[in-house]
Amino acid sequence: MVITTSTELKQLKRSMTIRYVIAITLIALFSVAAFLSMDVVVKGMDKNAYLVNISGKQRLLSQYIALDAYRVYSADQIGLSEEALQFIKKRLTKNLNKMAEVNEMLSRGELSKGEIVNLSPEINEIYFGEVNLKFRVQQYLALVRLVLDLPDYEQKKIILLDIERFSEGLLADLDKVVLQFQEEGEARLQKIKDTKFALLLLTLFVLGLEVLFIFRPMVNQIIALSKQREEALEHLERQVMLRTLHLEKMNQKLNRLAHHDALTGLRNRLDLEANIEEVIEASREHGTEYAVLMLDIDWFKSVNDQYGHDMGDYVLRELAQILTKSVREGDHVYRAGGEEFVVLLNRISYLDAKHKAEQIRQAVASHVFASNGVKLYKTLSGGLYHSSLVQVSSVKELLKITDSALYAAKHAGRNCIMEVEKTSVT
Ligand code: GH3
Ligand code: MG
Ligand code: MG
Repeated sequence: MVITTSTELKQLKRSMTIRYVIAITLIALFSVAAFLSMDVVVKGMDKNAYLVNISGKQRLLSQYIALDAYRVYSADQIGLSEEALQFIKKRLTKNLNKMAEVNEMLSRGELSKGEIVNLSPEINEIYFGEVNLKFRVQQYLALVRLVLDLPDYEQKKIILLDIERFSEGLLADLDKVVLQFQEEGEARLQKIKDTKFALLLLTLFVLGLEVLFIFRPMVNQIIALSKQREEALEHLERQVMLRTLHLEKMNQKLNRLAHHDALTGLRNRLDLEANIEEVIEASREHGTEYAVLMLDIDWFKSVNDQYGHDMGDYVLRELAQILTKSVREGDHVYRAGGEEFVVLLNRISYLDAKHKAEQIRQAVASHVFASNGVKLYKTLSGGLYHSSLVQVSSVKELLKITDSALYAAKHAGRNCIMEVEKTSVT
């Protein structure tokens, strides 16, 4: 999925929020369920421990009772004082009541404070099934009460024998109850261990599922999104760079166009005026000498007229090359307009300038302009200005007097160079 708009971003944020809320809710629900189920099992353990405890006491009570019943029966033989006998009887009665009460509670599964526990089928079987422990305890307690109540010694003896017989089986069954409760407790403990393990496995499983189906896809989506942003940013940067480059090139082109002539590639009049101004300034400041040679092709119109405009263009281009090759690196050649050219000679003496002008004139005059089977010669007329000849205060003034010299050369018959101040060089 490619995220582009802020609405899509909002939707993604919402879907992620929903997903992690679901993930956290699942874990929270799971923890609460685990806590509650463990709580129930552990509470069961408490009850079990309590049942083991009181059934154990019941067993102990049955033995105290049997012993005290024997003491009561044999009070005379063992020379028990009346006071001691009364104490034992009292204790016996108390224990009988206690055992009867606990027998009721245990057989109902009632813990203290009226709290009822569901007894296991095994315990129910012992108390109410074939073993019938509840009834047998009642019978046992009734027998012992007889020992207390009957005055006759012989009768007591018979009952005591019954008690003795009864007591053994009862003890074994009470043991069974304790053992059963103990086993149930252990089973519960095992259940806790199993539950704990199952809960751990289930929690890990749920976490694994969440990682697989919630968190991993979420992380992947975030990574994909940030990659996408990065790429978009890179793309944007590239675009900006390309446009900047394009703009720079355009600027260069415009700059070139503004300062150069399209046909010959030479600097144009705009540049010429700016450069001459700089040279005048430099000369004024440092006294450097310079010269300006203004050239015009003689009878150029006839080239166009005779051979066509293309031939005329060719002559202009060719002439531009001859002029460029004729000057030093620091000198510049300009196309001042139409078939008119200017050469700016920097740091040059008057004589050298004269010499250079003549050299150029001769080079052009002897050059064969050949194109498309047409061969022709062309000459130049020129006006030469040198800074030592006359002081100028502006470019305009300089160009004006140089142009006048050129005009004079035309009048003098062409194919010659005239200096400003009417000095002529041929
Ligand atoms: P002169 O000796 O008096 O200078 O005569 P000329 O024929 O050279 O002068 P004129 O001013 O009568 O003619 C100049 C011609 O130059 C006219 C014009 O058609 C031509 N020209 C100006 N610019 C260009 C150009 O870029 N290409 C071509 N082919 N011809 C041009
Ligand atoms: Mg001309
Ligand atoms: Mg002209």
